[in-house]
Amino acid sequence: MRIDIITVLPELLENFTKESIVGRAQKKGLVEIHVHNLRDYTLDKWRRVDDYPFGGFAGMVMQCEPIDRCISQLKSERHYDEVIFTTPDGEQFSQPMANKLSLCGNIIILCGHYKGIDYRVREHLITKEVSIGDYVLTGGELAAAVMTDAIVRILPGAIGDEQSALSDSFQDNLLAAPVYTRPAEYKDWGRVPDVLLSGHEARIKEWELQQSIERTRRLRPDLLRGTPLE
Ligand code: SAM
Repeated sequence: MRIDIITVLPELLENFTKESIVGRAQKKGLVEIHVHNLRDYTLDKWRRVDDYPFGGFAGMVMQCEPIDRCISQLKSERHYDEVIFTTPDGEQFSQPMANKLSLCGNIIILCGHYKGIDYRVREHLITKEVSIGDYVLTGGELAAAVMTDAIVRILPGAIGDEQSALSDSFQDNLLAAPVYTRPAEYKDWGRVPDVLLSGHEARIKEWELQQSIERTRRLRPDLLRGTPLE
């Protein structure tokens, strides 16, 4: 898989793309992440990529031309399954969306800044608009990082124990069961549930499922709405 991120602040994403699971997934050849500085695509001698909005509104707007030049260049080199714009008024990012995007071959993620991007870019170049939540960030870089992380960690081979990604919250619409590590007893905080120390795989799986269902009913009943577990 290949993810191209277009931004005016490439430095913000530098460490993110090199570290942890995302960094290791690239070293293993599971994903290529390319960060493009939008300023490299402007014809403006001052490398500006924004201008004042028509209508006299406050703030600055990212211009069509550099975005068009950058995306057109990428699209002339390979096919992209999605050209995503990060925006608070987009479709809410979710685990099912991450699962679906992880099956793509190549995607572009365009990070907005300032007041946003010229609306014509959204109409002509963008295939999917995605929000990471009902709040406004300064730029789309953190949203791009959130999406990239969620997509890359579920690529086969990205996590050592693949089962661990599958038992995370939101897979199967359930929250994850509690997890414990040694020691089995700590201070007077209680003991780790006996079943986890039993070594009995089937009973442990059953306990994990029951815990997931109970926690989801208590903390996120909305996830079970319309399912037999409601
Ligand atoms: N004027 C825009 C609005 O009200 O919808 C907000 C612009 S925001 C200051 C600048 C950029 O940050 C946006 O263009 C978008 O790329 C990114 N951004 C902000 N909040 C976001 C969110 N919740 N999800 C995804 N991207 C977001």
